[in-house]
Order: sequence, then C-alpha cells, then structure tokens
Amino acid sequence: MPDFSQFNFKGIKALIRVDFNVPLNEQFEITDDNRMRAAVPTIQKILKDGGSVILMSHLGRPKDGPTDKYSLSHLVKHLSELLGGVKVLFANDCIGEQARLTAGMLKPGEVLLLENLRFYKEEEKGDEGFAKKLAALGDVYVNDAFGTAHRAHASTAVIAKFFPGDKKMFGLLMESEVRSAEKVMHQAGKPFVAIIGGAKVSDKMLILENLLERATDIIIGGGMAYTFMKAAGGHIGNSLCEADRVGTALELLARAAVKGVCIHLPSDSIIADKFDAHAQTSASPSNNIPDGWMGLDIGQNACEQFTNVIRRSKTILWNGPMGVFEMESFRHGTKSIALAVVEATKTGAFSLVGGGDSVAAVNMFGLAGQVSYVSTGGGAMLEYFEGKELPGIAAISRGS
Ligand code: AMP
Repeated sequence: MPDFSQFNFKGIKALIRVDFNVPLNEQFEITDDNRMRAAVPTIQKILKDGGSVILMSHLGRPKDGPTDKYSLSHLVKHLSELLGGVKVLFANDCIGEQARLTAGMLKPGEVLLLENLRFYKEEEKGDEGFAKKLAALGDVYVNDAFGTAHRAHASTAVIAKFFPGDKKMFGLLMESEVRSAEKVMHQAGKPFVAIIGGAKVSDKMLILENLLERATDIIIGGGMAYTFMKAAGGHIGNSLCEADRVGTALELLARAAVKGVCIHLPSDSIIADKFDAHAQTSASPSNNIPDGWMGLDIGQNACEQFTNVIRRSKTILWNGPMGVFEMESFRHGTKSIALAVVEATKTGAFSLVGGGDSVAAVNMFGLAGQVSYVSTGGGAMLEYFEGKELPGIAAISRGS
C-alpha cells in the first residue's frame, strides 16, 4: 500500500471516502463539524500536490432514496470555507452522467462533492456494480473514513477491488487512527489499563473479553459496573442491571483472576432516588445500595482508587463514561478520570480515548488536546478492540 504522505498526486483525481456524517439542525446548519475538519489535511495535501479531489460520504440513514433532509449539498458552503475558500462543485447524484462528466472535467486544485451514497440501497449492501461505477470516477482510491471502517459497504470496502495495490491507500486521518489503535492493541507499554464505562454491559462484553488477553488492569465504571457488582454478590438497589448478563459477568471476573488481570469496580457510588438531574443524591458503597436508589456516578473513593491505577499506567484505553455525565450532579467521576488520564499522559503514558460518549466527555471538559489520541470512530474503534478485522482496513492493507 502506498504511503499517502509520500504519494505525489500531481495531475491525479483522487476519489476519497470521507465520513461527513455530521449532525444538522432543522435549518440544515452543521452543529458539529469535527468530522469534516478531520478530513481537511488529507484533501489539502492532494490539492497542494496539484491533484483534484472527489469526495464521497454518507449522511444519516435515509430510508427511501433521495431526500433534502439528508442531502450533502448542505455541506458545500462550509466545506469550501474549511478549505480556505476553494470552490467546491457538487454532483446531485453520486453516480450517473452528471457525476461522470463533472469528475471527468475536474481540473487540478478542484474539489467535487458527490451526493449522499446511501441514497442508493446498493451502498450498504456492498453491491459490486455500484462500487464499480463509483470507482470509475477517480484514478486512485483513498479511504479516510475510519468511522465507517467496520462496515463492508460499497464505498468503504468493495470499491477497493477495482483499484490495483499501488492505487489505493489510507488518508491521513485513517492512517493516524490505525496507527494509534495498533499501538494500543499490539505494542502497549505495560502496565496497560483499559477503562470501560457506559450503560450497557452487552455492548462491551466482547471488548472486555479481548482486553483480558492484553490489559494489566481493567477499570469498569458507569451503569455497566452494577451488573458486575451484582455478579460479585453486591446489593445494587435500582441501579442499571442486565439480569441476563450477570452470569457472563461472573465468568469474566473468574477468567480475569486466572489470567492475573486486575478488574477494578467502583468501591462507592453517587446514588440518586430517581434518574433526574434534580434528584436527591447521596454517597453509598456500590455493593450496598438501598432499594429505591440507583448508582449514577462513581463515588469519591472510587475516583481515588481509579486515579491511582491510571497514574501508574503506561498505556490507557478509555471507552465509555463513568456516570451520567450529561447531568452536572453525576459528572464528577468522569471528569476525575479524564483529569487522571491527562496527568498520566503528561508523564509519558500513551492514552487513546475512543467511543462516542467518552469522546463527548473529554470535549466537554476541554481536555481533548491533552490526551495522546481521540478517535473519530466510535463503533469502528469498539470493533477493532473486540479483535475483529475491519473491512475498510482489510480491503486496502491486503493490497492486490
Ligand atoms: P454507552 O453508549 O453504553 O457507552 O453508554 C453511554 C451512556 O451511559 C451515557 O449516556 C451515560 O449517561 C450512561 N450512563 C453512564 N453511567 C450510568 C449509570 N450509572 N446509570 C445509567 N446510565 C449511565
């Protein structure tokens, strides 16, 4: 696979799969442009070399073909601004004559944005004919959409087979995502702590199982911790619990003990009498929560307990908040953990934050710039750490 930074794009039309799946408000204004910003360095390098750029992406989940609500045309003006005023052409169909003609006439330094790929059902089905039509638009294929790398869609994986090994590559964003993930997965400095939180144990079971093979310590916080507390014989009141996962949780605790992996559960919790920002709150040992009360954040002792583990770690992977951080009363635990990760990073640890809500949390605290890497791909990162092969990565790195 060619190295993107070394590749000379002069006179070349690069077809780039980006992840421009940004949130829009009712007026079709972009409310968070991080995903667009993340693709800018890749686009700029190609333009600077004297190449031209054809961008393709999905936006939302359109059900029945084209609708204005999910049109990428709403992104054209902002994209042009992000690229420093470069004119952005738009094709209102991602395949077909207009796309073919506009792409064909594209000159060096020009950018063409194609309409939403998911207006065609063939995209998510990974249809070869559709992928071939997209492939015909560019000379080389660049995948810079880590957020959809876990999907075997036409534009993220299938398309790669229509380009020879020397004409398909990762973009800068994809490259840095893969490099950071690989560093944690295969070259983790020890001790390696994985901090796993969030609401649902069922979503995180596979990642926990895979981490048992790699991590030195696993911190479990958030709502999912209470299923483990229950498995360990605790009384958890009305806290979140996935009854059908208690058995699996117990097995995981037993396997961790055999493997010598330390599982850290929060010793205490901030409990509330209802799931509400203005609920009555109190502190309680996590394994003895009164009936009618629920744990919505880790307590002060747990913050110190977890901070000590994080402080002595050389590699940190964080996925999922420690509590209901969206509400101020239950934010403290997640913030303490974020600060501990920042502190460990300052003293040389490599820290990777991945997964929608933990990324939202570090952004909320203004700490995103103080960890080693913040991943843009929640689902993709999760699947990577579950040990699965991501089709978007495999399609390119396998070459051929
Ligand atoms: P997930 O998508 O599974 O990572 O879960 C993220 C969500 O978990 C966030 O919206 C949090 O508000 C929620 N959460 C974290 N801790 C708790 C808790 N103790 N009880 C209920 N929800 C929680």
